Amino acid sequence: MNGRLVPTLMLAAATLAPPTPGPARRPPNLILVVADDLGWGDLACYGHPTIRTPHLDRMAGEGQRWTSFYAGAPYCTPSRAGLLTGRLPVRSGMASEVRTVLYADSKGGLPASEVTIAELLKGRGYATALVGKWHLGHLPAYLPPRHGFDLYFGIPYSNDMDANPDSPPTRIEHPKSEYFDVPLLRGSQVVERPAQQATLTRRYVEESIRLIQANRDRPFFLYLAHTMPHVPLFAGEGFAGRSPRGPYGDVVEEIDWGMGRLFQTLAELGLDRRTLVVFTSDNGPWRGQRALGGSAGPLRDGKGTTFEGGVRVPAIFWWPGTVAPGVVREMGSFFDVLPTLAALAGAPLPPGRVLDGYDLSPVLRGAGPSPRRTYFYYRSAALQAVREGRFKLHFFTRPDGNDEPPRPVDPPWLFDLDQDPGEQYDLAADRPEIVAALRRLADQHRRGVQRGEDQVAKR
Ligand code: MG
Repeated sequence: MNGRLVPTLMLAAATLAPPTPGPARRPPNLILVVADDLGWGDLACYGHPTIRTPHLDRMAGEGQRWTSFYAGAPYCTPSRAGLLTGRLPVRSGMASEVRTVLYADSKGGLPASEVTIAELLKGRGYATALVGKWHLGHLPAYLPPRHGFDLYFGIPYSNDMDANPDSPPTRIEHPKSEYFDVPLLRGSQVVERPAQQATLTRRYVEESIRLIQANRDRPFFLYLAHTMPHVPLFAGEGFAGRSPRGPYGDVVEEIDWGMGRLFQTLAELGLDRRTLVVFTSDNGPWRGQRALGGSAGPLRDGKGTTFEGGVRVPAIFWWPGTVAPGVVREMGSFFDVLPTLAALAGAPLPPGRVLDGYDLSPVLRGAGPSPRRTYFYYRSAALQAVREGRFKLHFFTRPDGNDEPPRPVDPPWLFDLDQDPGEQYDLAADRPEIVAALRRLADQHRRGVQRGEDQVAKR
């Protein structure tokens, strides 16, 4: 227990630091890298046999690799809302029964009343930047500059949206940037349309390096949200056609190259021991895209489902000298990122609202077990499954690998995720007491959730 008190005392000291702290007291830099639709099994350090990710593998070896880390939802928009607010997307209205994500014709977005990680850290003196995909509302009132980001360079929604009506039906398999009228923004201004997608990963990385260099003497929060490997797949020069895994491997290997460039920059500036770097993905692989989509490894199904493959994602934490190296098999989630970063930065949590996350910083420091014992699986605005400890109960599901709407599973399915991570063997008939306990947990949770006005359905 003593070990768990240490981080608390250190945080208290950080909170009392003067507004212009010296180098020793300066809060850490925070870099949060999120890939799009990257599956649990798509990195070499998570067992992929043909995708080469030496920089992420080294990051995992020097840091913590989590095997049971959950995205905020099985789709982009609600997952990212959960990541940036620490709240279930149904609370902010960023999960909908009508539409799964925001589209180019959407009129809604993340409400101004929500407090993002960027706003929280800005209040603590951080420079804040989003480089990459936003997908929380593309109208001016909802763009990143209105949600705490000093700098924004990226696309406002997915790279397959705004398809040109004259583009061929094979536009995903044989893509050209001209087929997708996706804008590239700097601040609130469109600087390129259509975004030239084969150069995006490289430009995101270069922009990120400039941001790090410009803020070498003050704390910064960089949210680098890669457009890839969401389809259409565009790899840059030096990567296209190189991976044994094909176009999907090409784009993941380019993202890995970008991680190497970030680590190199941090080392050159002497910032590597005062910077936390997190790498994760917003949801599981898009299986309907066949070989153009990723892999969830041993986990069942993928994006759009509440099977493990839809929401359990790679998650690596790296901070030499602070993050205790190892593999963490306990649970963590996107909702825990805001409380964790707030604790590390000594920033107060946003008042007057329900948060759904836990501070994982003691786990990162190797000072205690994960406080997360449960995860509530939503698809759109519906609770479909619940996990407590090793057991998971499904109330709704859909056939594997297709886009049919989910149907109730009655009686519900019970899986032991320690013994059966692929969710193959239903134990409900053998363990009625666990089914009953998980039902109670779900009922109690549903009663406690107040839903925000649906933002995703507005068009
Ligand atoms: Mg996604």
